[in-house]
Amino acid sequence: MPFNVFVTRHLTSDAEEKLNAFCQAEFWHKETPPPYEVLLEKTKKVDGLICLLTDPIDRHLIQEAENLKVISQVAVGVDNIDLEAASDRGIPVGHTPDLLTDATADLTFALILAAARRLGEAVDYAREGRWQTWGLTTLLGEDVHGAALGIIGMGRIGRAVARRARGFDMQILYHSRSRALEIEGELGAVYLPLPELLKQSDILTLHVPLTEETEGLIGTSQFERMKPHAILINTARGAVVDTDALVTALKRGQIGYAGLDVTDPEPLPPDHALYTLPNALILPHIGSATRTARNNIALLAVDNLIAGLQGQPLPKAVQ
Ligand code: NAP
Repeated sequence: MPFNVFVTRHLTSDAEEKLNAFCQAEFWHKETPPPYEVLLEKTKKVDGLICLLTDPIDRHLIQEAENLKVISQVAVGVDNIDLEAASDRGIPVGHTPDLLTDATADLTFALILAAARRLGEAVDYAREGRWQTWGLTTLLGEDVHGAALGIIGMGRIGRAVARRARGFDMQILYHSRSRALEIEGELGAVYLPLPELLKQSDILTLHVPLTEETEGLIGTSQFERMKPHAILINTARGAVVDTDALVTALKRGQIGYAGLDVTDPEPLPPDHALYTLPNALILPHIGSATRTARNNIALLAVDNLIAGLQGQPLPKAVQ
């Protein structure tokens, strides 16, 4: 009997080919996630699950999935999965670090540049016919070169962003759970306690996972410490930032600009206050969205799944 697997969305054709050659896979056919009841029903019967960050893999679902041998997430962040519940049942959880690090760091830098130089507003200005002449003080932004970049979470993506920042002669400051001594040596990065980092950064970029400790890490009291022209970049997870506090800080000019690839809630509803603010640039969670990165992480998710089904250690296990 081949293994039965449920996949909560279509993968790339390479990854689907590899998966289909190994097991009996059922793919959720829509672009939007399966409703929770469907996910629950499908997962009850299968040996393996490939899921995305939009799928709530909670304790109830894990307990009901009697045959489940492995959970393989196509993403590095796993805040949608109850890891404790999986561990209680001895089910390994796979994820896809490393292969999306550079794509996400590139997108982070795109957001830094776009927010600092107000690219969203400038594109609208030209497209809407407001471009009458060259204006000395038209659409002024902030310098990226030479700015103080504050990185929160000096892990894989934080480091990749720091290396890119070196090319822009930025001063690299950071706060993280543990010191990154090799990055301090390699790039002259300076470790600071969070309150000091907030005070000194011109551009603050978030690269922590979403956990109980990091939820709401940036809120009202953190915005109060930041520079009035400061730019907040978030390509980590939306809930690391208190969204209401962000809207207030942007409206009051407590900070200058926000560039967000991730939001809370997600997707951000079309009538959300953030869209009405000229100093907020919002992307629909496309951090790792390059053809190469997405194909590679889909293939790695399949490798994790196959290893789990065979009772082997996963190539990239969360726990
Ligand atoms: P990582 O290598 O695990 O880096 C996370 C860093 O955050 C680590 O250095 C970690 O410290 C630090 N950290 C954890 N908890 C902290 C806390 N409470 N306070 C301060 N620092 C803390 O992960 P990564 O691969 O860089 O990915 C980071 C996150 O980016 C992912 O979890 C995911 O949510 C997000 N992401 C988003 C996209 C997107 O499409 N926008 C794409 C990829 C990833 P230690 O070194 O002590 O562990």
